[in-house]
Amino acid sequence: MSIQVTYRRTSRLSMRIVKSGDVHVSVPYGTSIAEVEAFIETHREWIEKSRKKTSERQQQRVAFFSQLPLATRAQADEALERLEALVGPMVERHAKEMGVKPSVVYYKPTISRWGQCDVRKRSICISAYVLLLPDWCVEHVVVHELCHLLEPSHNARFHALMDQYFPRWREARKETRRIYRMAGDDTKIKKI
Ligand SMILES: [Zn+2]
Repeated sequence: MSIQVTYRRTSRLSMRIVKSGDVHVSVPYGTSIAEVEAFIETHREWIEKSRKKTSERQQQRVAFFSQLPLATRAQADEALERLEALVGPMVERHAKEMGVKPSVVYYKPTISRWGQCDVRKRSICISAYVLLLPDWCVEHVVVHELCHLLEPSHNARFHALMDQYFPRWREARKETRRIYRMAGDDTKIKKI
């Protein structure tokens, strides 16, 4: 474990555990080394507990995403085949209903986002890991990204479009977030 101290324009000392398990401490300019050491010492127990939690979450996360193995060419091909069979018809049906036409729909093994829409290129990228979600949650990701072709921002108009084209979107978003939290990440909600 390493401890990294950063001097900042802040009024108080704070610390957080980063994914690697290291401790990042932020302190105001002018704080002495002795003060920093005392701060770390008084939080020793918190550090140990938080590091343990962080590593457990990491393991859970690895276990979750490794349910879809993509390491070999054959595995990647199989996943692509399943994605095309699942997502392709969803895109076709909803795009027609919404009167939009994405330029391309492609897949990437992204773990930070379920989907992404490049409004300028009118392209849609779907995470290969949607295969770990129930179908209706995948459909929600698809409709969400298609909706961006009509409205780029997550504003009231966007939500009205979601209400119109996928009325269960709030429920699906909740379920997707629940699954993601089970995957061991409660610090950052995966955005779509
Ligand atoms: Zn969005």
